[in-house]
Amino acid sequence: MSQSHLVLARKYRPQCFKDVVHQEVPINALRNALKHNRVGHAYIFFGPRGVGKTTIARILAKRLNCEHPIENEPCNECHSCIEIIRGISSDVIEIDAATNRKIDNIRDLKESVQFSPMGGKFKVYIIDEFHMLTTEAFNALLKTLEEPPSHVVFVLATTDLHKVPETILSRCQDFVFQKVSTDLLEEYIEKLCKIENYEYDKEGLYWIAKKGDGSVRDTLSFMEQAVTFTDGKLTGNLIGKMIGYRGIELFQNLLKSILEDESSNKLMEILESVFVDGNDLKKFLWDFLDFVHSSVLLKEGIVSKENINFSIEDSNKMQKTVNNYRMESLLLISERVYNMYDKLINARLRNSYEIKVFLEIYFRKLYLDINKPSLAGVLAKIEELGELVQKDLNNLPIIKEENNLEQKPTIIPTDVEGSIKDKFSGVEVDEYPDID
Ligand SMILES: [Zn+2]
Repeated sequence: MSQSHLVLARKYRPQCFKDVVHQEVPINALRNALKHNRVGHAYIFFGPRGVGKTTIARILAKRLNCEHPIENEPCNECHSCIEIIRGISSDVIEIDAATNRKIDNIRDLKESVQFSPMGGKFKVYIIDEFHMLTTEAFNALLKTLEEPPSHVVFVLATTDLHKVPETILSRCQDFVFQKVSTDLLEEYIEKLCKIENYEYDKEGLYWIAKKGDGSVRDTLSFMEQAVTFTDGKLTGNLIGKMIGYRGIELFQNLLKSILEDESSNKLMEILESVFVDGNDLKKFLWDFLDFVHSSVLLKEGIVSKENINFSIEDSNKMQKTVNNYRMESLLLISERVYNMYDKLINARLRNSYEIKVFLEIYFRKLYLDINKPSLAGVLAKIEELGELVQKDLNNLPIIKEENNLEQKPTIIPTDVEGSIKDKFSGVEVDEYPDID
């Protein structure tokens, strides 16, 4: 983690409830509790990483101890607020349960709980990664959670609620924190770009928000890196280069070669070129899977910014071409490619050449399975062939034998034999060894 990376995330860490992105549900509940003087003694904040759990816990701690609160917000100017902002308040105790998970750590905590707050009115214990505590530590904490001194508030933050024992859950009020949508993250970082005077475009904001994956903290971390990489020009083009976005042309061609080509030659050529260009073949396979899966979602009309990983411009292109293909084919390809990926990551292949061979084998099988005719198709071909043979036989010259009897030859002449082969040439029977 670079120093510069910390700057944006720290600089824009919300100091008031109103500045937190999203999370209206827990914030409104806390505001109501503050308004009616009914703040609980133990809260569980559950939600994904980087969405504001610790930030809101600190704002709550400030508001509880603030000397001049402004309605339900802390003033951020009094002695107590300043100490908490600086992280030097003895009344706000932050514990990382990932590294302080043992019963001894909880015994220390239980002792410290008994002492009154030094400066403010409340001692606030913020325990991060709460689910990491040992069973003994959970049990040791139970009694304290049940009857805590009136000056104590616990905020237990966790990303894994199901790992917290029921006995603990029943003694706490729990709040669920949600991932932040890509739209909201884009809106938020656009404001920051304006404040910081960064150049940007819509596509650039989209990629930064996508990389954040619902987390404000991760979005700001990535934005920090992007600012360095692009020299403050947060455009889709530059950020695309930074993250190695290759566009969809290659995947469009690959899909076309599977679904439209007469033979698998083009498909093999594409795989060869991906190998020769030195691409990461595992990533290539995953990206192709993502492309086909996104095509399915587009065809179903249920695609959104959250569930697609392609640029806005490319998504529009995909939308136009996806209607050329049948849903069944796309579903079959996505399922097969997923299985292929699963096999690949578990296969003990030593180098990219071996992966290339693997891909060629499985893609060729996929091509054959997609293009093998249906039973109805084979029957139609046979019927067509029967008619052709009959027609050819009817057209054969009549051979007069010595005994003057008219007789049709019993051996099919070579030209008819040739046309039978031609008729069957389009029918590829699945003789490929089953390698599933
Ligand atoms: Zn204050």
